[in-house]
Amino acid sequence: MKPIQDIYPLLSSPREVVITTHQKPDADAMGSSLALKQFLTALGHRVTVISPTNWAGWVNWMPGSRDVLDYESDRGRAQAVLDKAEWLFCLDFNIFHRTKNLAQPLANMNCVKILIDHHQEPDIPSFDYGISDTSKSSTCEMIYDLITGSGHADLISFEIGECIYAGVIGDTGSFRFSSTHAGVHTLVADLKGRGLNHGKVHDLLYDNFLENRLRFLGHVLLNRMEVFYEYNTALISIPKSDLLRYHIKTGDTEGLVNYPQSIQGIKLVALVIDRDEERKWSFRSKGDFDCNTFARKYFEGGGHFNAAGGRSSDSIEKTVERFKEVIKENANLLS
Ligand code: 5GP
Ligand code: MN
Repeated sequence: MKPIQDIYPLLSSPREVVITTHQKPDADAMGSSLALKQFLTALGHRVTVISPTNWAGWVNWMPGSRDVLDYESDRGRAQAVLDKAEWLFCLDFNIFHRTKNLAQPLANMNCVKILIDHHQEPDIPSFDYGISDTSKSSTCEMIYDLITGSGHADLISFEIGECIYAGVIGDTGSFRFSSTHAGVHTLVADLKGRGLNHGKVHDLLYDNFLENRLRFLGHVLLNRMEVFYEYNTALISIPKSDLLRYHIKTGDTEGLVNYPQSIQGIKLVALVIDRDEERKWSFRSKGDFDCNTFARKYFEGGGHFNAAGGRSSDSIEKTVERFKEVIKENANLLS
């Protein structure tokens, strides 16, 4: 994989471009994709964003989100766009299988493939150009670096600024997580100088749910959370019946995993949700417990040191039992 800087001189010749990201894109995945789309469009490229799956309603305010193709529901149109692409940008993921059904079509493409991502253990041979940097707060920060680094800071519009800011606050927990290095604040200061209304973006992302989601949160924290004090671990497990009862949609469970972190002394929080196709895990840790290694070793997943995800094909009961066993195995790291 050649360094991302090697594409800077190539940016001036317009191309057919596809941008894609991980399944169920979050604020960073969608924000970085749409910010890059607006930037490349301003340079004269023809750009389509394809999401592997549907996404949360709270990213629909992002400029350009209405034109994003959902591969699962619009395969024919998406495949036609993939077929004529000259460049493929892969944002906020680093191995094709994180795009589920889109993985094989991406692998089959013969075009130039460019990676921009901040997760661990990238599948480098799949990409021609790119940057994989785990020290970056977010992929949105890396899009900001691309735009400024290639000498186009003047193209950072108000809309691009909003998309970038959304991903930065999403992935840094609004500047809480250790990934919030000094450069993140410098970036935000620059966006503020360009007219960013940061309060508006917070409202659109975090104060934009329906009543049912708050009721669901209350129910889950009261009835679905277990705390294992000897392992400084909290577990939330959500059966399918809860998702149906509270009419939970994609994105409504985002952020749920952060709540148990407010309990004194908690090192590891795990959330498992009984989705149709699999049991989906989210892990969050504080301090020196490595969620990425934990998720990779036990739950077919990965991610970052303090935030990772995984999956299981077992029933929710079985996968919860497995979790209880493996925290015992990890007692020395957790207590
Ligand atoms: P979340 O818990 O918010 O879904 O994910 C936390 C972090 O781990 C995100 O950066 C996400 O991209 C990553 N992640 C989530 N699930 C998986 C997975 O199954 N495999 C890998 N490699 N990373 C994941
Ligand atoms: Mn990210």
